[in-house]
Amino acid sequence: MRVAVAGAGVGGLGLAQGLRRAGIKVRVFERSAGRPQGYRLHFDARAGQALEKCLPPALFELVLATAGQPGRAFSVLSRRLRPRHRVESDPAAFSTSVDRGILREILSRGLDGAISYDSEVTGFDADADGVTVRLAGGGRFRADVLVGADGVHSAVRRSLLPSAPVEDTGSRVIYGKTLLDDPVRAHLPPALRDGFVAIVGGHVGLATGLVEFRHPPAEFGLRPAADYLMWGLSARRDRFPPLDDLTPAGLHAVALRTIRFWHRDVRALLAAAAADETFLVRVRSSVRVPAWPPSRVTLLGDAIHAMSPAGGSGANIALMDAANLTAALAGAGSEVVTAIEAYERSMRDYGFAAVEASRRP
Ligand SMILES: Cc1cc2nc3c(=O)[nH]c(=O)nc-3n(C[C@H](O)[C@H](O)[C@H](O)COP(=O)(O)OP(=O)(O)OC[C@H]3O[C@@H](n4cnc5c(N)ncnc54)[C@H](O)[C@@H]3O)c2cc1C
Repeated sequence: MRVAVAGAGVGGLGLAQGLRRAGIKVRVFERSAGRPQGYRLHFDARAGQALEKCLPPALFELVLATAGQPGRAFSVLSRRLRPRHRVESDPAAFSTSVDRGILREILSRGLDGAISYDSEVTGFDADADGVTVRLAGGGRFRADVLVGADGVHSAVRRSLLPSAPVEDTGSRVIYGKTLLDDPVRAHLPPALRDGFVAIVGGHVGLATGLVEFRHPPAEFGLRPAADYLMWGLSARRDRFPPLDDLTPAGLHAVALRTIRFWHRDVRALLAAAAADETFLVRVRSSVRVPAWPPSRVTLLGDAIHAMSPAGGSGANIALMDAANLTAALAGAGSEVVTAIEAYERSMRDYGFAAVEASRRP
């Protein structure tokens, strides 16, 4: 069997690793050429189990070695940093953070030659025997199965399920990164050292999470990366000035202005951020799609069930999809479409349940 994957994101690369491990030929087409932005992803047992299934043991160990130190608690604070709520973490539960850029570098290891960068999938022609993948620039690739792992704006979904809706929820999040150098560490409020924090300030919220690498990624030949605090300032679109055309520095300036009456330690943390790494997320969310006729083309991750990052589930579920689809295709024999149907049936259930959970406040 030969599988084509659109998108070398978290889910697409997890799937490629899983298929390789199961002895299935795989070719990944990734639209972009550059390195992905590094920001914190929280992983729980769903991602932990999926990565263990998909990755060769040495790469799974590498994910763990370069993950962040586990958090001790989740805290809610007021904008004056007064404690509102605190939940201790369960030390027995798998719960960690990873840097998205480092994770993708690890997930790409050993796939040399199987990933084509600068290769945008624009559509496909499916028949009873296989799929012809169409690429920007006129290229074609013939495979037995095509998996759309091409994210929230998926070209594969647009062709397969043209009426599947993705809604703009109206929420906007300005994300930034503050490197944990000595002066920043010295003034880090204690609750922020402890784990994930939500600071509530009327119509605006600030989420923060540390990434303190257990081992520096460069020790393993990965790109050098320093410890940082990720923060995301969220509000309804109309609570911010127009954000769409702003540069990273412009977004950073809006974030600083928005919290100008907050506790001085929070202001200092955001002021110390690497302004050029600030970016905007327009929160989009999929809407449940009724079952569709199975075929040799399927979807995983944000391509079918995009959700708000606030729930911390999107990447966990994309990796679950990757592990489940690997298992389905590895056991398919000649019944490829039947295996895809079984994968899609359960993926729709847990995937859209996670979307709905991420919409709850
Ligand atoms: C700031 C932020 C924080 C988040 N935090 C968390 C968290 O803590 N925990 C969690 O579980 N989730 C989190 N998420 C969500 C998570 O990042 C996504 O759910 C996850 O990345 C989805 O993986 P994916 O592989 O489906 O899509 P993506 O990771 O988006 O990958 C899609 C890939 O496809 C490529 N592509 C797009 N179109 C094409 C095309 N036509 N042809 C070829 N390639 C194409 C893209 O370039 C990209 O590389 C967060 C998201 C954001 C933005």
